[in-house]
Amino acid sequence: MNLILLGPPGAGKGTQAKLLEEKFGIVQISTGDILRKSLADGTPLGQKAKAYMGKGELVPDSVMVDMIRERLKEPDCLNGFILDGFPRTIQQAEELDKILAVLGFSLTAAVKVNVPLEEIMRRLTIRCNCPNCGKITACGITADQFRCENCGTVLVKREDDKEEVVRKRFKVYEEQTQPLAEYYAKKGLLFELDGTLSIPAVGKLMAEKLTSMKIKR
Ligand code: AMP
Repeated sequence: MNLILLGPPGAGKGTQAKLLEEKFGIVQISTGDILRKSLADGTPLGQKAKAYMGKGELVPDSVMVDMIRERLKEPDCLNGFILDGFPRTIQQAEELDKILAVLGFSLTAAVKVNVPLEEIMRRLTIRCNCPNCGKITACGITADQFRCENCGTVLVKREDDKEEVVRKRFKVYEEQTQPLAEYYAKKGLLFELDGTLSIPAVGKLMAEKLTSMKIKR
């Protein structure tokens, strides 16, 4: 099963991707996580991406497409994958189609998780991340004094979860990423979900729908 998760920042794509990873044994590929790791490691990719990420803008398509092309060649993708945060533009989607054709993969579905701006603002301005295991926690406006309940590491807030950057990221999503819904609907691959439901409820709906799509294909 090869999936794309679409939805605004804070829609719960990462959380749902982790649930899907466990349920179906397929690997999560989060372009945001790869970029943040590159940034922390000080790689050339991280340096290229830094300014865009800090402003809530998209990293150029050519950089992202090269990155995904290499990642999809890794052997762990042969069992199936979840693209979390890619593609984000029509150009990325068109390039992805070419990469998948070369590698002999096809998409099972593009799942769009819908959440309105007010709820995104509420979620992102209170969320903290564990820099060690990646667990997300609702901690409040600052991350001070909070430790990860999984591994005990001191939590941090993402630079781009500041209110003005979240607004910008949402606008970028509406302008550049939403058009992908039509792109995948035309291919018969799109289904949409209400991302304001609870995490288990969204997970259940997603798993049911994907199981039925997998059987049909
Ligand atoms: P995310 O963790 O998915 O919210 O991504 C964080 C940031 O990484 C985004 O705001 C962009 O600056 C960058 N980014 C991640 N994925 C992509 C992509 N597919 N295209 C362009 N920029 C991306």
